[in-house]
Formats: sequence, C-alpha cells, structure tokens
Amino acid sequence: MKFLSLLSFAVVTVVTLSAALPAKKNHPARIMEKPLPTNPYYSRTDTVKLNLPDSVWKRVLSAELYAVARHKETERAFTGKFWEFTGHGTYYCAACGNALFRSDAKFASTCGWPSFFEPVRKQSVLYKPDNSWNMVRTEVLCARCGAHLGHLFDDGPPPLGKRFCMNSISLDFEPDKADGNSGKQRSVR
Ligand SMILES: [Zn+2]
Repeated sequence: MKFLSLLSFAVVTVVTLSAALPAKKNHPARIMEKPLPTNPYYSRTDTVKLNLPDSVWKRVLSAELYAVARHKETERAFTGKFWEFTGHGTYYCAACGNALFRSDAKFASTCGWPSFFEPVRKQSVLYKPDNSWNMVRTEVLCARCGAHLGHLFDDGPPPLGKRFCMNSISLDFEPDKADGNSGKQRSVR
C-alpha cells in the first residue's frame, strides 16, 4: 500500500514536471530559435553614422535583410512588399532607420522593384560604381549605415530621369498620420 502511494506520488510528480517543462519535440533548439533579432542600432532620429563590423549586422538583422543589406543580394523581381505599393508616407532604411524616400517620389515601374526618382534628402544615400555581373551600374547605399539598397539608373521619368531601383526588404514604410492612404485597400475605422 505504501509502495503504491509512493508510486502514484512519483507518477503525479513526473507528469506535473513534464507539463511545466517546455515541450521537447524533434528539434527543440530550432523551435526555440529567436523569431526576429532586435536591432539596437535602428533609430529614426539618430543620424550619427554607423560603422559596424559585419559580425554585428549578422546578429541584429534578419537573415534575408542581412543578405541584401550587407552582401548585396537582390530580392527576386515582383516578390517584394513594396514594388506596387501606393501608400502615402516615408520609407526608411530597414537596417538603421535613416529616412530615404518619400512616397511622392515613388512611381509605377515595370521592373518589379519599388522605384523612386529622388531620395528624401541628397545626403540620405551614397553612390558607388558597381561593375559586377559584367554590367556598369551605380550602387545606392544608405548614407548612415552603408546598407546596400539597390541601384540607380538613368531611365526614370522626367524631369530628373532617375530611377532608384530598390529592394523592398531594405525599406521600412511609415504611413503619414493624417493621410487616409496607408497603402491598404480599405481604411480601418
Ligand atoms: Zn541604413
């Protein structure tokens, strides 16, 4: 009898303990992986230039943004979240929060990437010659953190004739507060 009650106590304890512990299924380490890293360098107000090593960016950016921003990958055309987005507001660097473009400078382009004819400020971006892939292009980088944003072409609309061809993933969008057009189909009331 004593043995039986001891046994049932042990069973109850084990069951209670396992319920309290996190589920250990196939790959607990993977399941518990951080969903999105936090980025302490992101600021919409701090304009101090960032000169951080690659290892830091790798830690604070999502894998997709890191590949584009730090290793100049290009997202596939027609797949980014902003290529045909029409919301009114400001686009910021997704890596550091630097203001880059206003929606007024965005135009419908058939290239499959969000396109702008000018940056919000001349000093918002930097330019660098890019001769990769046997092409002569101008790379556009964030002037605050050096993130790769995309390329600049001379086939934009008049009068400026410029096309800033950007990766959606390199951009964050903040809708104008007093504006009904947040880019969604219907306004939420
Ligand atoms: Zn940046």
